[in-house]
Amino acid sequence: MSGVNIGVVGCAGRMGQMIIREADAAGNCTLTAASERPGHPDIGKDASVLSGLEPSGVEIAEDAGSVFANSDVVVDFTIPAVSVDNTSLAVQHKTALVLGTTGFDSEQEKAIESAAQEIPIVWAPNMSLGVNLLFALTQKVARTLSDDWDIEIVEMHHKHKVDAPSGTALGLGRAAAEGRNVDLEKVMQSGRHGHTGARRKGDIGFATLRGGDVAGDHSVIFAVEGERIELTHKAGTRAVFARGAVRAATWAKGRDAGLYTMFDVLDLDA
Ligand code: NAD
Repeated sequence: MSGVNIGVVGCAGRMGQMIIREADAAGNCTLTAASERPGHPDIGKDASVLSGLEPSGVEIAEDAGSVFANSDVVVDFTIPAVSVDNTSLAVQHKTALVLGTTGFDSEQEKAIESAAQEIPIVWAPNMSLGVNLLFALTQKVARTLSDDWDIEIVEMHHKHKVDAPSGTALGLGRAAAEGRNVDLEKVMQSGRHGHTGARRKGDIGFATLRGGDVAGDHSVIFAVEGERIELTHKAGTRAVFARGAVRAATWAKGRDAGLYTMFDVLDLDA
């Protein structure tokens, strides 16, 4: 396949800058457009220079529509309301979309699902290879063990993160629930505090830690009387997510419409 013309919205963000660096390192991607929120102080600057690279001549635009018009695939790590608007632009311009933003509500999720009937969207709360393997392993272990085994999910992220539990922790919860053939909504327990009473059999618990510059730690703990299994992934750098996003962008070019995950991109079996 020939190279991929890649656009980045939210290009001045922590992930946006890393995606531009990883796209540059990938060798088969060309940055063709980039945007930031209207009024952002970096509008008009060279997007590659802002990411610490040589100039590419791609000026940071205010108009996200121009990013979709000039790219094969757009990568979006911004905020939920903006990402939902971007799904409409992607449909309008028939551009593939890689969506890494987290923290959507159920109505916003429906909007993404509906856009995916028209264009290919790779949507994953965590784009690292290791975490996606962790999803697969979690589902497999949950399927193997009875609900005598209590499942708890513990995550830690840097102090700037605004949503909790993390999108990845929720994804791990969904993987465990699927493995057990139950609905996560019905068994999810998060934010225990005060006199909570004993743990209900079959619940999937979540605990959230925030601090420092932690890129993302996730553990899934399976506990039964007398023994415990712990599956843990630790991201040492946020570059692993950006690398996965660029891999997803390369994969998404020219695909049929549909909602895809990193399992599709990485060809993983649950
Ligand atoms: P950030 O705040 O550093 O970056 C977001 C950027 O989006 C900002 O620069 C902001 O100005 C920009 N933005 C806001 N409105 C915009 C608009 N209308 N047009 C263009 N740009 C706009 O945040 P971040 O740490 O880069 O994280 C972004 C999102 O990605 C979060 O939801 C985070 O949870 C998620 N994330 C996902 C993964 C994954 O693997 N899927 C990994 C890390 C972070």
